[in-house]
Amino acid sequence: MTAGVPGLADLQISEGTRVLLRADFNVPLKDGAIVDDGRIRAALPTIAELRKRGAAVIACSHLGRPKGAPDPALSLAPVAARLGELLGTTVPVCPEVVGSQASAMSAALGPGEVMVLENLRFEAGETANDPALVDALCSLADCYVDDAFGAAHRAHASVVGPPTRLPSAGGSLLLAELEVLDRLSTDPERPFVVVLGGAKVSDKLGVLEALAEQADLMLIGGAMCFTFLLAQGHAVGDSLVEPDFVGQCRELLADGIVRIPTDVVIAQEIAVDAATKMVPAAAIPDGWKGLDIGPETAGTYADAVRDARTVFWNGPMGVFELAPFAAGTRAVCDAVAESRAYSVVGGGDSAAAVRMFGAESEIDHISTGGGASLEFLEQGDLPGLRALRTGLRNDEGEDANR
Ligand code: ADP
Ligand code: MG
Repeated sequence: MTAGVPGLADLQISEGTRVLLRADFNVPLKDGAIVDDGRIRAALPTIAELRKRGAAVIACSHLGRPKGAPDPALSLAPVAARLGELLGTTVPVCPEVVGSQASAMSAALGPGEVMVLENLRFEAGETANDPALVDALCSLADCYVDDAFGAAHRAHASVVGPPTRLPSAGGSLLLAELEVLDRLSTDPERPFVVVLGGAKVSDKLGVLEALAEQADLMLIGGAMCFTFLLAQGHAVGDSLVEPDFVGQCRELLADGIVRIPTDVVIAQEIAVDAATKMVPAAAIPDGWKGLDIGPETAGTYADAVRDARTVFWNGPMGVFELAPFAAGTRAVCDAVAESRAYSVVGGGDSAAAVRMFGAESEIDHISTGGGASLEFLEQGDLPGLRALRTGLRNDEGEDANR
């Protein structure tokens, strides 16, 4: 599916060409400071390439979820400052997304210079895919580069709009992400083992159903395993369950490639000092909730991962943020790191777990886009990619609010 998505080499850029760069600078913040600048670093290769070719780079991104109006706590100013440090140059932030100041600043930007527009979601038109916002953004630049893989599943103005107005291409991060996902969806080396966990089964049933066609084995952990256990008629105590999805879980279990835990770690509350017990997964007492896979399950899952040739992992096996419930996620993470399999991790929390356990360098690819990578594996395409592929021929736009 990378086929047809134009790359940077397909764009005509010369000295002074103004490029609107949609980046994914949606970094975690704490008290106004950037906790993890991974997403900013991930955009550097494309920015470097554009500067080398003499472009003036007008970068834009969303950050967090402001409600279509300016929110100083979600300003891109700290991102611009960090980007400037990483590039070794001054990167000014424009106090608005579009308007007279944005126009003046972008017009004055010289070859090789970089500026950042304010948070795209300060404009209600971003998530609504408002053509007026698309026009205003496109008026700032001569061409458009989309490197925001993490936003490619959103039919938002800055993602699907510009390719209908400007010569456009995908950046190197976006194309690299696509290549990896292509490798998983087309003829992966076998055995192909999928490990899925995390909070909600409803978020992940689509990708489970899609991957059931491809994978040799699917290992289920996290809160979502309790809906599967419920589907088998087991008592799950106070564990998180989504009873509406029991039917779909039962169908998946019938496929024969889905494995669910045989033992779990339980506690009465989600707390670092909670008393815990190890019990068979089929017998969780009332008043207790399952918060991690047990050691027997962790062992069988780790063995399967070690024997795999391709691994895709999304979603922690338990509440890994708290030490008493981290062992299952750690065991799976270690196995993915040790396995000779081609390994891909998707999902913000899963990536955080990998970093927490120091396994980053052992994983072949950590996707910058959790939701986007799942939706790509589920549907085989994304609105942002379709827009780039269709380019100037597409003047219909996409449905907003997906
Ligand atoms: P990702 O961001 O990697 O896609 P998710 O967002 O789906 O992962 O899920 C991550 C969250 O799931 C973590 O905050 C973790 O604490 C929570 N979680 C995992 N297992 C359980 C469980 N058994 N009960 C409650 N929450 C869980
Ligand atoms: Mg998450």
